[in-house]
Amino acid sequence: MSEALNILKEVFGYPAFRGQQAEVIAHLANGGDCLVLMPTGGGKSLCYQIPALLRNGVAIVVSPLIALMQNQVTALHEIGVRAAVLNSSLSQQEAMQVEQRLLANQYDLLYVAPERLLTARFLNLIARIPLALFAIDEAHCVSQWGHDFRPEYIQLSILHKRFPEVPRIALTATADMETRKEIIERLGLDIAKIFVSSFDRPNIRYQIVDKTNSRSQLLTFIQAEHPGDAGIVYCLSRKKVEETTLWLKKQGLHAVAYHAGMSMQQRSMNQEKFLREEGVVMVATIAFGMGIDKPDVRFVAHLDLPKSIEGYYQETGRAGRDGQAANAWMAYGLGDVIQLRRMIQESDAQLKFKQVSARKLEAMLSLCETTNCRRIRMLSYFGEIIDTMGCGNCDTCLNPPKVWDATVEVQKAMSCVYRTGQIFGAGHLIDVLRGNLTARVKEWHHDRISTFAIGEKLPEKTWRAIFRQIVALGLLTTDSEGHGALHLTEASRAVLKGQQSVYLRQQTRTERLSGKRSDDDPMPLDSAERYLWEQLRLWRAKIAKEHGVPAYVIFHDATLHELVRLRPQTEEELSQVTGVGARKLDKYGHHLVEILRGS
Ligand code: ADP
Ligand code: ZN
Repeated sequence: MSEALNILKEVFGYPAFRGQQAEVIAHLANGGDCLVLMPTGGGKSLCYQIPALLRNGVAIVVSPLIALMQNQVTALHEIGVRAAVLNSSLSQQEAMQVEQRLLANQYDLLYVAPERLLTARFLNLIARIPLALFAIDEAHCVSQWGHDFRPEYIQLSILHKRFPEVPRIALTATADMETRKEIIERLGLDIAKIFVSSFDRPNIRYQIVDKTNSRSQLLTFIQAEHPGDAGIVYCLSRKKVEETTLWLKKQGLHAVAYHAGMSMQQRSMNQEKFLREEGVVMVATIAFGMGIDKPDVRFVAHLDLPKSIEGYYQETGRAGRDGQAANAWMAYGLGDVIQLRRMIQESDAQLKFKQVSARKLEAMLSLCETTNCRRIRMLSYFGEIIDTMGCGNCDTCLNPPKVWDATVEVQKAMSCVYRTGQIFGAGHLIDVLRGNLTARVKEWHHDRISTFAIGEKLPEKTWRAIFRQIVALGLLTTDSEGHGALHLTEASRAVLKGQQSVYLRQQTRTERLSGKRSDDDPMPLDSAERYLWEQLRLWRAKIAKEHGVPAYVIFHDATLHELVRLRPQTEEELSQVTGVGARKLDKYGHHLVEILRGS
């Protein structure tokens, strides 16, 4: 094991293993199969990269996304590891060259797309050389219920049949039990050792606000908390992605778009921009993000409700991989609930699929409506119980919502639904309740019914929140035609009869949350430090440009912070800094010491 630690220090420049890395590496290096469940940013790559260097032969890494394989390989080259990709981005000649080098045992790691790996040609090829291991990254892609399903992944079970003596490691950041079971079953990992890490991401602050005008709420959030930061904004539809991008651009932000309707070329151009330039806001559908390993994404914003907690957790998990403070922000309203329920109802999926989807949505809704700690709620959804009153770093902990007895108001809302014939949406119902004499109210003579104006004391905003919550709670439901018309449900009866009280959460205030910053936050810099920091960033940008790689491939922000704080004056001292391995010391040590001494 000391050899593994040596590699960690020498090659990767890190002083110690994180979490279960050491155990996973030992198990795999000894030839055991394993399934590793670790949150995004947990350090999954090292779990197979180090065994790849420890074991004889080449490690074959299966990864679903071409662009991102290249990033990994580029980063490995930077630290002097022999790695390559084999996928459809290569010309035939390039691919031949990789194959020849592979046969000549010139690689420690080879990244392949699943469809390439499964070809008879490739399987025969690797049968001729010593194999260190198989790593199956993003293993949740075997799950048919998940949103990243890749049919080819299911066939990966062939690896074990064909190469029974080669150890396999499957990795994922998807934590729920159902997916876990599916991975084990489909990849034939029943005898594999399972390593489950805590899925907590303490540096991410979760915040879910009531949607009023989501765009301007988003802008306020970015301007107040993340000026100049890189972030991802998720929207449900392609159209909304495009509109939001345009609008953010008009507001002066450097925003780019990404969705499956764009050309491949446009998509990869925008993705590159996001990865390479600083402070870019990526507006995207969930088509974007799997495998994105940009460490300094400072926020993830959702303008629409995700379909499940798994999705939400995975998307928000793309923030703050570097362990520094990051924000997960979401605006959510009644429209989201209606839209997603409708999408499930209308889909022509099988009944079982609909049921699973509906259950997942309900869990997501209850996360939105909870008055308790969001983090505890999510972790317990993944089967992880943390023994604390609250995390201290989510909106409900920092600004606890009050609950109020809304039974009477809910009864008024329900009887208004009933009296108007269960064919109207929340907008009209609120007009009736508030006594607004709109054209529609007059047309239907709703100013003559008993519920007209019985809710005029409450502002429209409050009524919206009431409707949203009672729909989320299942006390009202929407019609299947999809016009948002609200109906009473079985559950409405007890409330209407006064047999059941309803407690709702009061509006959360949307102003900026103040509260403790994460322990990992860099301390504010004084002016000399700021100067040094800027110098180091300029130097890093120059090198990155010369090498044609994103700045973080040269050094992470965390490494630059440490340099500013410790000011190492010799190469020896420099080698102690996190993220400075032998190769980087060799290449950059001289220059860095010059900059540091001069400051
Ligand atoms: P994951 O694939 O689990 O999302 P990565 O493997 O990309 O995470 O690792 C996240 C970041 O943490 C990377 O920048 C990686 O270099 C860094 N990292 C991983 N292990 C360690 C460690 N033991 N010490 C310091 N940094 C680490
Ligand atoms: Zn909390």
